[in-house]
Amino acid sequence: MNRRAYNFNAGPAALPLEVLERAQSEFVDFRESGMSIMEMSHRGAIYESVHTEAQERLLSLLGNPKGYKVLFLQGGASTQFAMVPMNFLGQGQQANYVLTGSWAEKAVKESKLIGDTHIAASSEADNFMSLPNLDDISLSDNPAYLHMTSNETIGGIQFKQFPNTGSVPLICDMSSDILSRPLDVNQFGMIYAGAQKNLGPSGVTVVIAREDMITNSPKHLPTMLRYSTHTSNDSLYNTPPSFGIYMINEVLRWIQERGGLEGIQVQNREKAGLLYNAIDGSGGFYRGCVDAASRSDMNVTFRLESEELEKAFIKASEKEGFVGLKGHRSVGGLRASIYNAVPMESCKALVDFMEHFKQTHG
Ligand code: PMP
Repeated sequence: MNRRAYNFNAGPAALPLEVLERAQSEFVDFRESGMSIMEMSHRGAIYESVHTEAQERLLSLLGNPKGYKVLFLQGGASTQFAMVPMNFLGQGQQANYVLTGSWAEKAVKESKLIGDTHIAASSEADNFMSLPNLDDISLSDNPAYLHMTSNETIGGIQFKQFPNTGSVPLICDMSSDILSRPLDVNQFGMIYAGAQKNLGPSGVTVVIAREDMITNSPKHLPTMLRYSTHTSNDSLYNTPPSFGIYMINEVLRWIQERGGLEGIQVQNREKAGLLYNAIDGSGGFYRGCVDAASRSDMNVTFRLESEELEKAFIKASEKEGFVGLKGHRSVGGLRASIYNAVPMESCKALVDFMEHFKQTHG
């Protein structure tokens, strides 16, 4: 057995070892076809069964919400930043956004290229170190939708609740916390996520949407950028990223085997609790970056007294087999991304390392 790193990468990120091993065992000869899944037609029965299984498993994990469909797209969550306003922002309407950090900002930037864009709530005044109060959301006169980012991967803040937007569709970028906890899909018109954190390898973007939202897209849009193209072709209009979708199916199976979203949430809370306790109990040696009530269970951001000390921390951690603890280049500091597949043992090892580093550098 090769040594596995303590992998705290922000994405692409750790995948479950069990899934990697299963993929390895099926790699060369998939379901007795004499070829890998990457070598077979996406129009054939074997691939199609994997495709359908992945869609059904995802909806099943979400409690089989009525009237929702799953799409597998490409172009990352970043393409969704543009597709959302292109498909949903009509004449005389405004695209509404909750501004919470770097990723929400990127979504807003794309929306502004398409049309009238309104910031319905923002925590920019607090430097995105906290979540805006949901009671302060102020929609425009004729809102096409409200867009939120459930978890800001760089800043490390995460919504624990979502607003009731009535007849205005709530659209959510859940790239960095999808399937990390139970979720009432019925609150949302559409959810999307790049796969590379909680779902599988990079290259697949998952969309879960109310069918009526993705059936009649504007005809003037390029074919690939219309949701309806993918809905009516069951995400097989063009060649799908078949290996990635196979991996997602296996990750979903792995989540099911761990008690579904309730089971995963228990583990995620325990892992996050461990790290935040280590930060809060360090007597100020480690400092959490964000307001405690807004903290993310997926991306734990923290700092040390000086950048020199942070550099020393990263260097020493790498020596001990830790990977990915450097904060995003735009904000600096430290970040431990602890998605579903990061094992508890990695978090315990990190807490031990943090304690040791404090004792030797405090
Ligand atoms: N939204 C969030 C919250 C993200 O964390 C990321 C990627 N880190 C993106 C969007 C962009 O995703 P992609 O790289 O798949 O375009």
